[in-house]
Amino acid sequence: PMGTCPLARMPLSDNFTGLLRPWARPEVLTCTSWGAPIIWDGIFDPAVAQQQARQKNLTIGLTVFAVGRYLEKYLARFLETAEQHFMVGLRVVYYVFTERPSAVPRVALGQGRQLRVERVDRERRWQDVSMERMRRLHVALSGRLGREANFVFCMDVDQHFSGAFGPEALAESVAQLHAWHYHWPQRLLPFERDARSAAALPFDQGDFYYHAAVFGGSVAALRRLTAHCAQAIRQDRARGVEARWHDESHLNKFFWLQKPAKVLSPEFCWSSEIGMRAEIHRPRLLWATKEYALVRY
Ligand code: UDP
Ligand code: MN
Repeated sequence: PMGTCPLARMPLSDNFTGLLRPWARPEVLTCTSWGAPIIWDGIFDPAVAQQQARQKNLTIGLTVFAVGRYLEKYLARFLETAEQHFMVGLRVVYYVFTERPSAVPRVALGQGRQLRVERVDRERRWQDVSMERMRRLHVALSGRLGREANFVFCMDVDQHFSGAFGPEALAESVAQLHAWHYHWPQRLLPFERDARSAAALPFDQGDFYYHAAVFGGSVAALRRLTAHCAQAIRQDRARGVEARWHDESHLNKFFWLQKPAKVLSPEFCWSSEIGMRAEIHRPRLLWATKEYALVRY
């Protein structure tokens, strides 16, 4: 079975999963057509992942934006549950981006874990807050964050951790399968198809629809990703167009051009609103209920 997933056979110390056991989950797709593993519960050994990551003495960055009402509504729970579940046992540095640094909640941090706050401007439209993240992340990755972290995850704040999100998720570049779309036929996936947008994919193209609420990778890979997306967003703005799902559309274009080295199953970022699914064993992140009337302006 390993022969079906070449990237899972990288030198064992580089993939943070050890030997994968795709046969433990015969009911789901565990490998992409380009050979990247799709990480489902049960196909990796968390202890091996932990051991590999600790041997490398890694520092993991976790970036999150909390601008406007998202700060009071979501940030405390996001950080408190990250303390319980995100990369436990590794060095972690949180980067919180907000326009109100003084309002960031004081969360008790475990040993080897730090929190830094970066000030950002409050954009006028929520779509712009979301898209501006790519430019701001690129700046951060080129500065202190890029110097102190080996790998970084970039996440939405409107979710909380509900299970161990560990080093099995690490790789050179990591994309998250979108919980609502992972079982949809390709032609129905909500990729941008309007050729005027830099995010457009040709009509019959597309691998998976990825969720912008979770993406990650090495600092170098994420600098390329954020540079691509920030530039594409600028180009669209200059042309007076906006991609259907904003930064997520551009992220999907990037991962179509540069295939991710690892793909996370929807167990890593699940929505309770979808209900029970036999293949979803243990969700690691759960979306908050969408209360757009409260948080968007
Ligand atoms: N965000 C924010 N303030 C805003 C809009 C967005 O802090 O006014 C950040 C926040 O981290 C949020 C992310 O941008 O989780 C993406 O926006 P949202 O979650 O509303 O988009 P959706 O998940 O609904 O596509
Ligand atoms: Mn969100």
